Amino acid sequence: MRAASQSPATVTGCEPGFRGVICVSFGAANTLADHDAGGMPRQDFRFASANPEALANLRSVLERSCVGVRLVLAGPPADVHAAASAVAECGLVDEEITLLCDEVGPRVIFCGHCHASTTTDHPIGTDVDCRGCATTLTFTDHFSRRVGGYLGFSAHAEEAA
Ligand SMILES: [Zn+2]
Repeated sequence: MRAASQSPATVTGCEPGFRGVICVSFGAANTLADHDAGGMPRQDFRFASANPEALANLRSVLERSCVGVRLVLAGPPADVHAAASAVAECGLVDEEITLLCDEVGPRVIFCGHCHASTTTDHPIGTDVDCRGCATTLTFTDHFSRRVGGYLGFSAHAEEAA
């Protein structure tokens, strides 16, 4: 018989059938400490980064949860986006997921022209040069879970046309 203290450290999941808000934060700052769950029960998880182990834990938590759960992801944009892509496999729809990205930190821009991904530190609303086709891309806060990044479009499409 094994003592409880010898069990491997794993993330404790929500109770089966949990219906409420699952708050997941990445990085050093607990950005969700003051998050308003709207009176719903909440369950908090914290990970250092969106590494494969953290994402596997997150998926298993969601797989045990009921339909109707809300998910809030917060932290550096690259981690939040990696997590958002991973949980897409769990069947959550966009309306059930809230992404709270830090203002600073790398973001992934997905080029609408050549489909290359470019990581940038630039804030939303600025231009970035595509790594794949060198097009000057502009991007908004429209994040696409399908491609796991922000959609970028030619910043000067009108002028070129
Ligand atoms: Zn491109």
